[in-house]
Amino acid sequence: MPDAGTLYVVATPIGNLGDISPRALDTLRRVDLIAAEDTRHSSQMLARLGISTRLTALHLHNETEAAPRLIEQLRAGHHIALISDAGTPAISDPGAVLVGLAHASGITVSPIPGPSAALAAVSASGLLHPGWLFYGFLPARPAARRSALAALAETPWTLVFYEAPHRIAECVADLHAAFGERQLLLARELTKLHESVHRLPLSQATDWLAADEHRRMGEFALVVEGTPPRDDTVRMAEQLEQTLSVLLDYLPVSQAAQAAARLTGAKKNLCYQRALQLRGSPS
Ligand code: SAM
Repeated sequence: MPDAGTLYVVATPIGNLGDISPRALDTLRRVDLIAAEDTRHSSQMLARLGISTRLTALHLHNETEAAPRLIEQLRAGHHIALISDAGTPAISDPGAVLVGLAHASGITVSPIPGPSAALAAVSASGLLHPGWLFYGFLPARPAARRSALAALAETPWTLVFYEAPHRIAECVADLHAAFGERQLLLARELTKLHESVHRLPLSQATDWLAADEHRRMGEFALVVEGTPPRDDTVRMAEQLEQTLSVLLDYLPVSQAAQAAARLTGAKKNLCYQRALQLRGSPS
């Protein structure tokens, strides 16, 4: 049995060919096969880089069938590089099925890191507290997008989204409706001729985009500030209020106050005073 080959996960430029790394170039030259999302698109990029390695297609629609065949080749000792149309494979791009199967098959997986729109946007945002979460593309349908955003509204983490130009205006309007006032970074056409990186409050984003049609063109990565940390006292008061208002529907004031004290850990006297206020008059 020959030694198994390695699956290299190779990041390629997101718009500027100069961002290809020397290791990526070397890997793409040396491997036996390159699995590419779109072989026509990638063959043009590879030709410009002077690379003539054989290509095979691995995209969202054939990944399940193509991945086992590639695993057989890796088992037979061939080295394979996985690339997507732009940026890092398997980040809102195909590749995760093949990578998962490689792990399950005991094949070595080696990333060759490089460009990614998400990382580039985050690095230029200054919005990193307390950390960030990558969401990728929001649902295209307005109702599904709004409910996805509603589920994210309370997260303190900075959020990173990808968005298509024809939905960017709707998307920022929905972000503002769901999140209220927060900082937004609109990173457009990163690394390309018309790159623009603009940070502004969400309340101004719709007008800013509407002011110039060029601002709505191209590829977008969005970075949105998380919800500001809330004072613990405010949070506890809100929790007590919610608990009491439910309990008061079923119990008299004193019992509701006792139950609320046990449920929330708040002082009994405070619960009693608050329950009296909520009820509007002593019971
Ligand atoms: N895997 C890629 C990566 O690592 O960046 C992302 C692939 S995803 C299919 C493509 C989306 O990434 C675009 O629709 C856009 O939202 C974002 N994107 C890609 N290139 C970009 C660029 N140069 N500037 C801003 N956003 C970009």
